[in-house]
Amino acid sequence: KKPPARKGSMADIPKDLMEQIHGLEVIFGVQPEKLRAVVKHFITELNKGLSKKGGNIPMIPGWVMEYPTGKESGDYLAIDLGGTNLRVVLIKLGGDRTFDATQSKYKLPDAMRTTQNHEELWGFIAECLDAFLKEQFPEGVTGKLPLGFTFSYPCSQSKITEGILQRWTKGFDIPGVEGKDVVPMLQKQLEKKQLPIEVVALINDTTGTLVASLYTDSETKMGVIFGTGVNGAYYDVCSGIEKLEGKLPSDITSDSLMAINCEYGSFDNEHLVLPRTKYDVMVDEQSPRPGQQAFEKMSSGYYLGELVRLVLLDLHDQGFMFANQDLTKLKTPYIMDTSFPSRIEDDPFENLEDTDDIFNKELGVQTTIHERKLIRRLCELIGTRSARLSVCGIAAICQKRNYETAHIAADGSVFNRYPGFKERAAEGLRDIYNWKVTNPKDYPIKIVPSEDGSGAGAAIIAALTQKRLAAGKS
Ligand code: BGC
Ligand code: MG
Repeated sequence: KKPPARKGSMADIPKDLMEQIHGLEVIFGVQPEKLRAVVKHFITELNKGLSKKGGNIPMIPGWVMEYPTGKESGDYLAIDLGGTNLRVVLIKLGGDRTFDATQSKYKLPDAMRTTQNHEELWGFIAECLDAFLKEQFPEGVTGKLPLGFTFSYPCSQSKITEGILQRWTKGFDIPGVEGKDVVPMLQKQLEKKQLPIEVVALINDTTGTLVASLYTDSETKMGVIFGTGVNGAYYDVCSGIEKLEGKLPSDITSDSLMAINCEYGSFDNEHLVLPRTKYDVMVDEQSPRPGQQAFEKMSSGYYLGELVRLVLLDLHDQGFMFANQDLTKLKTPYIMDTSFPSRIEDDPFENLEDTDDIFNKELGVQTTIHERKLIRRLCELIGTRSARLSVCGIAAICQKRNYETAHIAADGSVFNRYPGFKERAAEGLRDIYNWKVTNPKDYPIKIVPSEDGSGAGAAIIAALTQKRLAAGKS
């Protein structure tokens, strides 16, 4: 939804605060020329990622080798381990481009993101699956249910039933998993509970989004996530994936398609082109994985509120805001999740009463109306920068693949819920391409809400995999 129209004015803001606002507008603004420079470098980096030598962007072959026909059918389980929830879904593919889904969400216990014992994580997933099966199949299951596992972290795959975690992202930090295959870890806990489930595919959320949307919309060219993290997936021709040379099973020809999970959250880890501010540097340095996910740290939901917080604290330290206030809470890292800037942008501008409440009740800080106007403008700037930078990945893939028109299937909490994100993203694309049409509905490249990628997508990929295996292919 759109942010409410701005009613009040900025004219009454005292000069010193207004100067700060102007300064923030300069450092967080991304002009069209900058966007185009980012896209240009992005294309180079995507190509590097596909080369034998590799680059910053992993460009991981996802072993999904075909487009869904829409005729895929059958019952599948799917799980999606996200940042805050575990989603378990039973999908019935209809065989006619339709599907039915029944799902349950289980809240990930807070300590789970950083537990010291990774078996707790896999054990938790197994428990949730156990509960779900008891609910859905009170009479028990005959045979084994195929499971598509959506695991939204960078994983190397030499086949689709494998996922070697390259590194945790989005603040996850559980020892003993990086560098290992997560599928046997999960399977072990499933067996411990004697669950009639077999993991048949491990997929990234972007690949799931791509495939689920292709199931219903053949114009789909990419699956993208704007959520806690950012990333995109698309299909490339195997002959264009240099690093697969000599590694393809013999039944796969060089003109076959292969879904690529870009993992472009790591774009520009070398800091050559992105307009980093000192706050971006702080976010990076204070994260569990400094030097990684440079693009993601400037654009994804996990970091938006944290950026706002760091700017506010800096302005306070310089004597511009929150005089004589107790900032104990505001000094807590990550206390402002994305819901903060999101709710602040939703607040009608005039009095910013909701913002007043948020700071007062949740952060213990009394704000003046002028401070609140600065806070609101700051959220707009950080939210807008996120949307504008995010679409650079889309433009880069479309230019690389020569897609002049495309539907880009998008999912994620920021895309679905952050006020104004969709409009700002569309405007970012228009600025990159310099389209003259005025109605976003007529833009040649359209970002559209996706089908359920981590449910339906995982199920469809599981079905495609089973079909390929049944045909004796690799
Ligand atoms: C992960 C990707 C994922 C993206 C969106 C990133 O942090 O590395 O695998 O697709 O978040 O969930
Ligand atoms: Mg997710």
